[in-house]
Amino acid sequence: MIRAYRDKGKAHQWDIYLASLFPLLTQSLIDWNFTTTNEGNTAQYHDIDGINLPAGKVLGGSSSLHHFYHVRGVSNDYESWANASQDESWNWDGLLPYFIKSETLEDPLINSTEYGQYHGSDGPTKLTRELNDATLRYLQAFEEIGKNIEEDINIGSSYGFSQPMFTISNSIRQSSAESYLSPIKEQSNFHVMKNTEVIKILFDDDNNAIGVEAVTSSGETIKLYANNEVIVSAGTFNTPKLLMLSGIGPKDTLESLDIDVISDLPVGQNLQDHMAVVVAHQMEETDAVAAAADPGKFPVPTFVGYSAVDSTQTYPDYISLNLICKNIPSIVAQLCSVVIPLKKEVCEEIITAATERELLFSVLTKSRPWSVGNVSINSTSYLAAPVIETCYLTDERDLEENAAYLEDFVQVAKSSVFQGVGATTVSVTLPSCANLTVGSTDYWKCYAQSMMIRFAQLGSVTLCVVAPTPWKTLEFATCTKSSRYLAFSSKSRSSVK
Ligand SMILES: Cc1cc2nc3c(=O)[nH]c(=O)nc-3n(C[C@H](O)[C@H](O)[C@H](O)COP(=O)(O)OP(=O)(O)OC[C@H]3O[C@@H](n4cnc5c(N)ncnc54)[C@H](O)[C@@H]3O)c2cc1C
Repeated sequence: MIRAYRDKGKAHQWDIYLASLFPLLTQSLIDWNFTTTNEGNTAQYHDIDGINLPAGKVLGGSSSLHHFYHVRGVSNDYESWANASQDESWNWDGLLPYFIKSETLEDPLINSTEYGQYHGSDGPTKLTRELNDATLRYLQAFEEIGKNIEEDINIGSSYGFSQPMFTISNSIRQSSAESYLSPIKEQSNFHVMKNTEVIKILFDDDNNAIGVEAVTSSGETIKLYANNEVIVSAGTFNTPKLLMLSGIGPKDTLESLDIDVISDLPVGQNLQDHMAVVVAHQMEETDAVAAAADPGKFPVPTFVGYSAVDSTQTYPDYISLNLICKNIPSIVAQLCSVVIPLKKEVCEEIITAATERELLFSVLTKSRPWSVGNVSINSTSYLAAPVIETCYLTDERDLEENAAYLEDFVQVAKSSVFQGVGATTVSVTLPSCANLTVGSTDYWKCYAQSMMIRFAQLGSVTLCVVAPTPWKTLEFATCTKSSRYLAFSSKSRSSVK
């Protein structure tokens, strides 16, 4: 196994392990620090020219910097995989045994109920919950507006609002490295080369992959040959980059860079990356002083919601992650200025709303985006970052549906729980939406476009197939723009052709 690790610099072990420190990990030495190309369609209120696309550059990959939520998804998601692959083993029932096999749920409450049958007791990934009473009135509020409340949303068949499971055990992050590699690290037939980056896949005369070329931490280029097979799992952005550098990818791209074409395939096309929209609710005044957080726990109480606008629907349309910040503006500041990061003036308004108040900080993501982007390369150097066009919201349906989800979600402000404490939906100043009526569908479309962020929690996919057909026959959309709501005044932004 070969894994790119940190760039030069000191490894700070605890930032990876401790849940409370997750906001420090994006844009750090263990992040590949990719950004999108500037597509001029979204993210006008981001503090950088583009959008950060964090991806773990460390053992365990992104699971070593991710946000701990253990959400399996619902059976409908897997049904669509089974339909697409015409292989029933990809549906929920086919995958459930593997979910169970992969985990040890350390939650006596769930394990002692009917839900226990959906969870494992001796798998490598240890899971816990951090039940917190602060979530209860929020769950009640969402129930009041018609949402289901679930003890366990990881059983496939139900959806609603729930306190989540975390990939945390004994105060330690359960990354895939911690779960799968640590237990076998002394095994004699297991070898890991850290700080080593694969730069090319090697092929024999019949185009069989036989090994890789890699650059070690000392800068030496080496060739490694496989006894059986080469498995490439370098993540959504680096896998297509590596395939293209190795001669597998769109012919036009490869030829433009004088790369010998081994196989002309649409590698890097059909990127499906999730975006989310930030929305905050200001709750009651409080002079509570936040207790010093346990560094091994998630920094604030949280709950997740799987929702559908049509309450009779049997599967959700959108997911919300909700953080309860009780007079703790420093966490809000970290989220909006480091993890996202939004422009200073937008962030300041949200931080102010969180000062001496309880604030519900939510991010809403559409489970199945229509917009598709692509990953490509513009250099033969392995040091060059892949060119990533996420194309968020370029399909008009995404804009309409995100607006509908926002309208649906903020109904919670009408619940007696919210009304009882004089709660309001935080209306940040967005000059580009200034001439729209707050709360109208057009306003929410504009808001979604303005307050969008990347949502890495659901992961992303792109085509990395090496099989010759049927992918060749598919047509892939390019990044065409949807209608604009934003006034592009402060910066001129280039457009994607
Ligand atoms: C900020 C963030 C928060 C997230 N939060 C959650 C969450 O709360 N819950 C959840 O379930 N999921 C979450 N995710 C998503 C989840 O982490 C990813 O879906 C998952 O890690 C993807 O696994 P992967 O193996 O496909 O790729 P990765 O995890 O990206 O692993 C790829 C590995 O390959 C290495 N690599 C890349 N190129 C090379 C090369 N050329 N040579 C050698 N090694 C290379 C990388 O360094 C990395 O170690 C989050 C992701 C991010 C980025």
